[in-house]
Amino acid sequence: KVRVRFAPSPTGFFHIGSARTALFNWLYARHTGGTFILRIEDTDKERNSEPFLNVIYDSLNWLGLRWDEGPQVGGDFGPYRQSERTAIYQQSVERLFAAGRAYEKDGAVWFKLLGERREVFDDHRKKTVTKVATPPVVIEDRIRGRVERVEDEDFVIVRSDGNPVFHLVNVVDDIAMNITHVIRGEDHLSNTSKHVHLFEAFGAAPPVFAHIPLILKQNGPGKMSKRDQGALVEEYQRRGYLPEALVNFLSLLGWNPGDDREKMPLEEIVRLFDLKDVNQSNARFDDKKLAHMNMVYLLEQPAERFVALARTYFERLSDNASAKAALSAAPDYFREVMMVSQPKVKGLEELPAYTVYFFQDDFPIDPKVREKVLGKGDPRARLSELFAAAAEMDFGSDAAIEEAIKQLATQRGLGFGDYQAVARLAVTGTNAGPSITGIFRILGRQRVHDRLTRFAQ
Ligand code: GLU
Repeated sequence: KVRVRFAPSPTGFFHIGSARTALFNWLYARHTGGTFILRIEDTDKERNSEPFLNVIYDSLNWLGLRWDEGPQVGGDFGPYRQSERTAIYQQSVERLFAAGRAYEKDGAVWFKLLGERREVFDDHRKKTVTKVATPPVVIEDRIRGRVERVEDEDFVIVRSDGNPVFHLVNVVDDIAMNITHVIRGEDHLSNTSKHVHLFEAFGAAPPVFAHIPLILKQNGPGKMSKRDQGALVEEYQRRGYLPEALVNFLSLLGWNPGDDREKMPLEEIVRLFDLKDVNQSNARFDDKKLAHMNMVYLLEQPAERFVALARTYFERLSDNASAKAALSAAPDYFREVMMVSQPKVKGLEELPAYTVYFFQDDFPIDPKVREKVLGKGDPRARLSELFAAAAEMDFGSDAAIEEAIKQLATQRGLGFGDYQAVARLAVTGTNAGPSITGIFRILGRQRVHDRLTRFAQ
């Protein structure tokens, strides 16, 4: 039975690469009916911190990647925080000493490779080192294929300050937790040969390894790092992205369903996901693609969910004046505004600016649009015509409003568009937005009236 683990170190914020590693492990567990374990690799006391730990929990929960075993939920192989497993590591080091596979030097504990040893002068390090003739470690990686690496120098497993090293604790726990598949970033491939030696020394069969390709930064060469823009999961959470959209997007960073489908329901991704289909080549992060994916997801949300998402988003921005104005509007009014905006925005973050004129009378007027619209004919005259018509108009439905504007246009030998551009400028300050009839209906007669008059003066 498959047992996979996601093993983050809480040394920094939770970034896109970590989320993708977590997701691939989760998907593989769900695909195979296996167990997804969260293990916190927090032995490095200097670099770990509690707030970062909470970011990991929050981000995984937000993405919907629930763990079956781990901190907070428990399980039969705990504790799941390495900082609570010190005694286990001490015992494992004792075992290596007893088996003649560990020794002390300079206050640290070293792992002893088996093989013929000879002293050589290392030009690079300008010192004499012990080289060990070991057979190459062969890794049948599920993604990379066959990888061979030679380890020819003993390595430290417990530092002189008593802290066990990553290689040791990682392997000890993979054994103790019965991990069957290690799915992790390709940057760990260079560690894997050390790990295979450790598995052998503990008399355990190594798990299946699957090293997933790196994520390249948006522009230019190189791996995406925590410092890159758009690299942090919580940034998307804060910006009101839909977790489903981010999960879908992340699943395609290095994997595809075998055709060019992109948007897929999670159940479908779970059904199709397999390690053998993960690409060897690196995946490039593309935030436009992510924004697009998010928009597609937003568009298909039922109105009620969209309105609720929008409200939560506005609540997060509580110190922003337009968000405040929006939240103080009547709930039905808020709902109407969000419903006409839903098909038009690329993300929730566009909503405050996109809807500002619905909630505030002192909305900004785009000078370029103003110049463009007012440069044509005598649009102000049309405003007063509209103004007069608005007094009679039935504001109850979009169709009635459209009809009234059309009638006016026909009478004057003009088109609907001639009225709508100037009306839009007057009541919204811009040339983009939901249909003018929807805007009229929601704002209502009084506000439309006031704005048309104000602008015509
Ligand atoms: N703590 C390691 C990391 O965050 C885990 C590596 C692994 O998955 O084995 O990169």
